[in-house]
Amino acid sequence: MPDNALSSATVTDLELDLDRLAGELLVRDGEEPWTPEELRAVAAGLTSDVERLTEELAAADQGLSELLRNSGDGAGDDQADSGSSALEREHELTLVNNTRDLLAQTQHALGRMARGTYGTCEQCGRAIGKARLEAFPRATLCVEDKQREERR
Ligand SMILES: [Zn+2]
Repeated sequence: MPDNALSSATVTDLELDLDRLAGELLVRDGEEPWTPEELRAVAAGLTSDVERLTEELAAADQGLSELLRNSGDGAGDDQADSGSSALEREHELTLVNNTRDLLAQTQHALGRMARGTYGTCEQCGRAIGKARLEAFPRATLCVEDKQREERR
């Protein structure tokens, strides 16, 4: 885990009682309960993601508004130029939207941690599973409900 000092500081800022929480979160049959260290690692990853994504979103937002501002100046542009700046705008807009989604999911995961519902499937209320959360820390559904959702 890089940036350890920074990450542990931001976890502390959240005032999550990870020691208590670790023993309370649901796990699947056959899984050991979370240890505070494991939970701290996941929480630190999520909080540093929030910081990184917030910065990325601000940069992408700024990039997009610059593109939009400059798009009015293109009176002399030939077709190829205006075509590529439209593509550029579309790309920048996609980036902003994706980053905003990911940021919202990450904040949601941390919110669930703060409420003590982290690791509980939002569909069926059973455990999402520690192994799955360590691979996908933003997961809100157990693997069965995720597959069901993807088949819809
Ligand atoms: Zn489920």
